[in-house]
Amino acid sequence: MPFELPALPYEKTALAPHISANTLDFHHGKHHQAYVTNLNNLTKDTALASLSLEDVIKASAGDASKAGIFNNAAQVWNHTFYWNAMKPGGGGVPQGDVAAAIDGAFGSFEKFKDEFKAACVTQFGSGWGWLVAEGGKLKVTKTGNADLPMAHGQTALLTCDVWEHAYYLDYQNRRPDYVQTFLDHLVNWDFVAANLAASKR
Ligand code: MN
Repeated sequence: MPFELPALPYEKTALAPHISANTLDFHHGKHHQAYVTNLNNLTKDTALASLSLEDVIKASAGDASKAGIFNNAAQVWNHTFYWNAMKPGGGGVPQGDVAAAIDGAFGSFEKFKDEFKAACVTQFGSGWGWLVAEGGKLKVTKTGNADLPMAHGQTALLTCDVWEHAYYLDYQNRRPDYVQTFLDHLVNWDFVAANLAASKR
C-alpha cells in the first residue's frame, strides 16, 4: 500500500482570509503531494514501503544514506500534523489541561505566545516552530527543513510551518504577521489537548 496524501480536514476556503484557498491549493495539492510522491518513489520495492510512516521516519532519522527518505517522510508527517493543528475559527486562549500545562511551563499564556513566535520568526530559512512534550514537560522548539520532534525523543503537540511556501502568497515576506495570525485565528487547541493527553499515556 503506497503512502497516501490525506485529505485536508476542512474545505480549502475554510481558513480564509487568514490562509487563502490559493495557498492551500499549492501547499496541500502540490507541496504535500510532492513529498508523498517522492516518498513512494524512494521506498518502492524496499522493506520500508511496508512500514508505517512513523516507522519509516524512525528508521531513516540520522542515517545520511537515507536522508532523502527521511526528508520526504518527515515532511509528509509534518504537513498532516500542521493541517490538523489548525481549524476555522481557531486560535485564542486554550482551556483546561492545556492551559494549566502552558501556565506551568511558561508562566503564562502570553509568555508562551512570545516564545512560540520568537522560535517561528528566528528559524533561519525553512523549518517548523513547535510546542512539544519532553519528559512530561512542555517546551517550545524549532527545527530546520524536515526535522521533527519524534527524531529527538519529543512528542509534538502543535506546529507552525515556517517554510516560505506556507505564507508567501498571503503574507509575502511578513513571517511575523503570519505567525501572529496563526496564534490568534487558526490554532486548533482541541488537537493540542488530544496530543497532550496521548503524551501522558
Ligand atoms: Mn509546508
